[in-house]
Amino acid sequence: MAELIDGKALAKEVRAEVKARAEAFQATHGRPPGLHVVLVGDDPASQVYVRNKERAAHKAGIAGEVHRLPADTSEADLLALIFELNADDGIDGILVQLPLPDHLDDQMVVDAIDPAKDVDGLHPFNAGLLTVGRRGLRPCTPSGCMRMLEQVGCDPKGKRALVLGRSTLVGKPIAMMLLEKHATVTIAHSRTENLGDRVREADIVVAAVGRPNLVKGDWIKEGAVVIDVGINRVDDVAEVKHLYPGSEKRMRRFEKNGSILVGDVDFTRVRPISGAITPVPGGVGPLTVAMLLVNTLTAAKHHLGID
Ligand code: NAD
Repeated sequence: MAELIDGKALAKEVRAEVKARAEAFQATHGRPPGLHVVLVGDDPASQVYVRNKERAAHKAGIAGEVHRLPADTSEADLLALIFELNADDGIDGILVQLPLPDHLDDQMVVDAIDPAKDVDGLHPFNAGLLTVGRRGLRPCTPSGCMRMLEQVGCDPKGKRALVLGRSTLVGKPIAMMLLEKHATVTIAHSRTENLGDRVREADIVVAAVGRPNLVKGDWIKEGAVVIDVGINRVDDVAEVKHLYPGSEKRMRRFEKNGSILVGDVDFTRVRPISGAITPVPGGVGPLTVAMLLVNTLTAAKHHLGID
């Protein structure tokens, strides 16, 4: 049976490392690293994500504030806040929780963040640094995936890696990071033909699509490492029974919540063939928040001119 990559345990380790480094930062510089988060509107999922980030930052000794703005905030007001945070010397990291309400342009708002404070690593300047192989702030989810590969001793060098999904948030940056580590990388997407054949060639599979059960058991090469980034809510009992046959734990969770969260990978059928696999939930998700804290420390050090 494949090794289960425990994202929760790994995230705990990373958070403890950050806490120690944040304490050392505070002792040396007389202030903690500072992260400010901007949340516009009342989308329930975004509220949960922001609360998790706020709590994790606080526990790790990172100071900061969440700016909660009403859903009808104008573009001018939002940009004015971002410029104010950009100019504030006590703030090292700025994160705008996406997606923004429909009347606001996500990309334009991300572009307004000072790239040196862009702890989500989504500013085009930081995307460019990653593409040319230079240091910079990198997106948190792909950084977490790389950390997971490291954790299971999977060196991408010379291996075939298949990334499903080509978003700027996950697919493209993880492909760049795997390439940097000398993998032979293929990016598959919605127009890719014979997807199963492409997956079968891969020693490393990263699925970031947003479709439950997309990656089938018979697509996986024996021993492949499978990182499942997808987060999908399934509220159909038949589908839950198909995905997790005989799993009382999942059924209990379904009965309690009316739905369960699943990844893009058919976990039950892929696990016996793979060498290592991440669960959903409890896989990539917790590491994403931990890597945000790492990025905040990195931004704080660069801000003060420390390597
Ligand atoms: P996105 O919608 O921006 O991109 C999805 C990608 O999948 C697109 O590039 C598209 O071409 C590709 N795609 C669609 N159908 C496909 C198919 N049939 N075969 C192959 N590729 C296909 O999504 P995203 O922001 O990259 O997120 C992807 C998933 O990862 C979502 O489920 C999201 O919730 C999840 N996610 C999780 C975390 C985390 O912390 N765990 C972070 C970010 C995103």
